[in-house]
Amino acid sequence: MEISFEGKRALVTGAGKGIGRATALALARCGAEVTAVTHTQADLDSLTQECSSITPVCVDLEDWKATETALQDIGPIHLLVNSAARVNLQPFLEVTPDQFDQSFSVNVKAVLHVSQIVARGMKARGSGGSIVNVSSQASRRALRNYAVYCATKGALDMLTKVMALELGPHQIRVNSVNPTVVMSERGRLTWSDPEKAKVMMDRIPLGRFAEVEDVVNSILFLLSDKSNMTNGVTLPVDGGFLTC
Ligand code: NDP
Repeated sequence: MEISFEGKRALVTGAGKGIGRATALALARCGAEVTAVTHTQADLDSLTQECSSITPVCVDLEDWKATETALQDIGPIHLLVNSAARVNLQPFLEVTPDQFDQSFSVNVKAVLHVSQIVARGMKARGSGGSIVNVSSQASRRALRNYAVYCATKGALDMLTKVMALELGPHQIRVNSVNPTVVMSERGRLTWSDPEKAKVMMDRIPLGRFAEVEDVVNSILFLLSDKSNMTNGVTLPVDGGFLTC
């Protein structure tokens, strides 16, 4: 299936590393004009070295004012991918207010905020658009030490559905991808303990973790016209984990 984003303009958050970075590069390869957002300049420098057509924006998405300023001149956006997230792992009884607030601030509040900025423009232009939020299987299954992360992704799934409901009449589709463990640099690090990895892997019928490319392909499908009637879904990219 050929997917082309020729003539489209895309914004990707969390584009410095992992899934966001690979998505930004894939969108550019498919012809989109891409704006990449993260808060680490060195990552943007290496990204633009890898693909010079990408426009870098360095901003901490936890800072609403700075985000508004940074995104005010980005121009019309047709495709948005919210991939930035923070992962703080603690046993439930040790969760601190700071860790809770920081996680919600990036994983939920920043998604709402960036989507508001982009969707207002989409609505004003009247030509629709597509938004994909990067959620997780953790939105639907309890994982030890992931109390806050699971809660943020559960909230993100509901945010996705309400955005789909309210933005649908403006032909703006909103969906999420919900991957299992993904072999991004961070995923490899977090799941490097073979015993911990085996417990998770044993619950995945396909018997493997996701590669970054698996997730990117699902994101591209949801962004594209090939999924024109798909709105408000939380699409597992999990080898069947959520079916068991
Ligand atoms: P990475 O940590 O590799 O990438 C996340 C990116 O977001 C980084 O570039 C990071 O920058 C950036 N970022 C974080 N906080 C902010 C902020 N406040 N402002 C701007 N940018 C920020 O993560 P992955 O690629 O592994 O994950 C991407 C998405 O996929 C996340 O939403 C995650 O929850 C989800 N996911 C990942 C899974 C996995 O196993 N990897 C499994 C399921 C879902 P920096 O690193 O410089 O802080």
